[in-house]
Amino acid sequence: MPETAARPLFRFDNSYARELPGLAVPFQPARVPAPSMLYFNRALAEELDLDADTLAGDRGAAVFSGNDVPDGATPIAQAYAGHQFGGFSPSLGDGRALLLGEVTDRHGRRRDIAFKGSGRTPFSRGGDGKAAVGPVLRETILGEAMHALGIPTTRALAAVTTGEPVFREDTVPGAVLTRVAASHLRVGTFQYFAARGELDKLRQLADYTIRRHDAELVDHPDRYVELLRAVAERQAALVARWMHVGFIHGVMNTDNMTISGETIDYGPCAFMEAHDPAAVFSSIDTHGRYAYANQPLIARWNLARLAETLLPLIDADEPEQAIPRVVEVIDAFPARYERHWLTGARAKLGLDRAEEDDGALARDWLALLQAQAVDHTLAWRYLADAADGEGLRLQALFEDTRPLMDWLARWHNRGALEASTPAERALRMRGTSPIYIARNHRVEEALAAAGADGDLGPFDRLLEVLAQPFDERPGLETYAAPAPVEVTARYRTFCGT
Ligand code: AMP
Ligand code: MG
Repeated sequence: MPETAARPLFRFDNSYARELPGLAVPFQPARVPAPSMLYFNRALAEELDLDADTLAGDRGAAVFSGNDVPDGATPIAQAYAGHQFGGFSPSLGDGRALLLGEVTDRHGRRRDIAFKGSGRTPFSRGGDGKAAVGPVLRETILGEAMHALGIPTTRALAAVTTGEPVFREDTVPGAVLTRVAASHLRVGTFQYFAARGELDKLRQLADYTIRRHDAELVDHPDRYVELLRAVAERQAALVARWMHVGFIHGVMNTDNMTISGETIDYGPCAFMEAHDPAAVFSSIDTHGRYAYANQPLIARWNLARLAETLLPLIDADEPEQAIPRVVEVIDAFPARYERHWLTGARAKLGLDRAEEDDGALARDWLALLQAQAVDHTLAWRYLADAADGEGLRLQALFEDTRPLMDWLARWHNRGALEASTPAERALRMRGTSPIYIARNHRVEEALAAAGADGDLGPFDRLLEVLAQPFDERPGLETYAAPAPVEVTARYRTFCGT
């Protein structure tokens, strides 16, 4: 079908390029020799009000490889900085990414459409600007899995192979990911302009952010403090959600922390299997900075880095006068996080009411899982069986069931205070604790098949399973099962370069 005035492929409206011209560099994607579609997210394309029929075919491969820049796109490389493992890099930016533009989805929300792996940009430094097929498919799987879990996340719209080799430790097939985000504004975007002392640009950025993400604050007399509070709220909610599904982001650098509160940049992330606060999978996280249990602390640390950038906006004459104002927000972060975490924990325990000891009940449960290295996901899921039945599957996860029985007695007593029936509680728990997560060995298996012989079967099946993570289906037992312990113990993830 030819592109007509009535039906453009995308209805772009590019506010970042238009309103913040000094904050990004216009740049074109590199041409690639032989684009071929690996994945097209039709449901998301429809949600974004794109011409999904046309984009699903050859035209889509050309568009999503960067060879055919669609009408209305204004590709730009965004500037940002970032604290990486605690050390500040003043100039990172889109070294292998380009923001194509923004569209308004069917719910009226503005969404970014961006490439990753579309070639070198002025921010590339020594890098080649490319992405490899493995990490691109990995980001696709993890983003879709998180979305299906109801956790705010960027998502893959398309993945294409380019027909071009990319040189990493081995030579691997190149690919381009098309990513959709509420925005690509990061803590590091603010840091870039703050570090350069470019206060006009910083203010333009903050005001743009408020218009885009917190429009109710536009006329607020304290809008920059309130922006910080709004970001604190979103990030506290997000990290609490991660913790309740055992997700370890792996590289919570400030450039990978969104202002929107979406999960972004699925590099060395992983879901843990046995519950372990110290769990780390990333090959480069040698000191465990981004270990599972550290994530709320790091979120607070990152929030403090954002707060620092806002001081000269809050008080232009004497920025240090603004310090107590932001400290109040930063110091309130743990309690804010705890509120979100406790709300999530109560839901996972099948509880509606709030009782004094609910936090202790949930923490004691997790301590029990840790003590016997029980699978985080299955333990929570099978706890629902114990709400409305026998819980034999739950008991089978424990080597020593005595402490489990003691804890279950406490939990049953607590459940008796609820107005709901045990069956209602079990149902609610099964809608909160997934049976299927993106288990590391299944992700690796899917990527290996796709990379080695172009077999996308395992990738497609895994996506299908993960699209309904709460709905236990016969025949899918192996997707629910943990990896052999030896595999998990040796499992390492790598940054998606
Ligand atoms: P990431 O690890 O993907 O969050 O990226 C951190 C920074 O390194 C960002 O500024 C990226 O644009 C840049 N970067 C990562 N990989 C490459 C690459 N292959 N070529 C150029 N820049 C890259
Ligand atoms: Mg990043």
